[in-house]
Amino acid sequence: MNAVETNSVKEEYTVRERAKDIKSLTLGELKEEMEALGEKSFRAKQMYEWMHKKLVTDYGCMTNIPALLAGRCEERYDLTALKTVRMQESAIDGTRKYLFELPDGNLIESVLMRYHHGNCVCISSQVGCRMGCRFCASTLDGLERDLLPSEMLEQVYSIVRDTGERVSNVVVMGSGEPLDNYDSLLRFIELLTDENGLHISQRNVTVSTCGIVPVMHALADEKLQITLAISLHAATDEKRRRLMPIANRYSLDELIQACKYYFEQTGRRITFEYSLVKEINDTEEDAQRLAALIGRLNCHVNLIPVNPIRERDYVQSEKYAVEAFKNKLESKGINVTVRREMGRDIDGACGQLRRRYMSSAERGLS
Ligand code: SAH
Repeated sequence: MNAVETNSVKEEYTVRERAKDIKSLTLGELKEEMEALGEKSFRAKQMYEWMHKKLVTDYGCMTNIPALLAGRCEERYDLTALKTVRMQESAIDGTRKYLFELPDGNLIESVLMRYHHGNCVCISSQVGCRMGCRFCASTLDGLERDLLPSEMLEQVYSIVRDTGERVSNVVVMGSGEPLDNYDSLLRFIELLTDENGLHISQRNVTVSTCGIVPVMHALADEKLQITLAISLHAATDEKRRRLMPIANRYSLDELIQACKYYFEQTGRRITFEYSLVKEINDTEEDAQRLAALIGRLNCHVNLIPVNPIRERDYVQSEKYAVEAFKNKLESKGINVTVRREMGRDIDGACGQLRRRYMSSAERGLS
């Protein structure tokens, strides 16, 4: 089979798969589906609201939908729902970590953080990850698969249902690389911010990337009002390559150019994430270099004392080193926050709860 044929088969397959996943359809697409079924198009809006506003997980609960239509939908479409396998709540700050099971049995993690200004949910974008960052637990077993838009949405919806509390912010900062699952990410944002659904403001959505430069350009061209967070972690190419394999593909120069482009296209300030690892990237010279690298951008730096994972021997920076690093950046006029550690007592770092659960399940302890 030649390349063109392979592509068209793949496309056909994707379209067919997507049509079956009703919770990943936009309202416009749902209208088309209803019309194709010979139904009135207002049914689409009713169903959309049941799924994305009232957050039901069963066609049977859609009380203004005729039983006949509900039955036809049941036959034709998957209605994605997640099973909560485990939930841990931090005794320190009320942070909740959820372990969800996907319809195919894969496991993912999501986190609810409760701040004064509102609730924030951190979601996963893939099962596992193929980016290979050295300090991150999510990537240790590689990528299993991409998440569907409905599976990304359901993490937020499940948490709203479970707590009965409003969610005002969503960060795509859990397991996975969102720009490696780009089409689903865009669709997820469209549905999450839709006025007929939860209607979360684009400005309250943050997408975090290790820096896939060409996709950053494509995202900039979408001109969304979301915040783009870049996992930087080092201020020289040589150091960054030791921590993040993606740095072998794109240089810091290219990455910073892409950040500038994102700002030009969207007017949105860039956030840089910098995980501080003792004696690896936390010296005064590192801070100096970082300031020189990003000092002229309209940006904000989030310092994260690295959360040590069992499989690697990276050590968290000392408190005084974090403080000195922060002061150095501030002295150069850079806006800095040190991320408050949330849920330290509940396997806070990306991918840790899932790994712990999976290894205890293998030993028959779950
Ligand atoms: N793939 C995306 C989003 C997932 S990771 C990205 O790279 O941005 C979310 C953030 O947590 C990233 O900045 C990542 O580098 C950081 N991170 C992952 N594991 C960590 C750990 N053990 N300690 C501190 N930060 C970590």
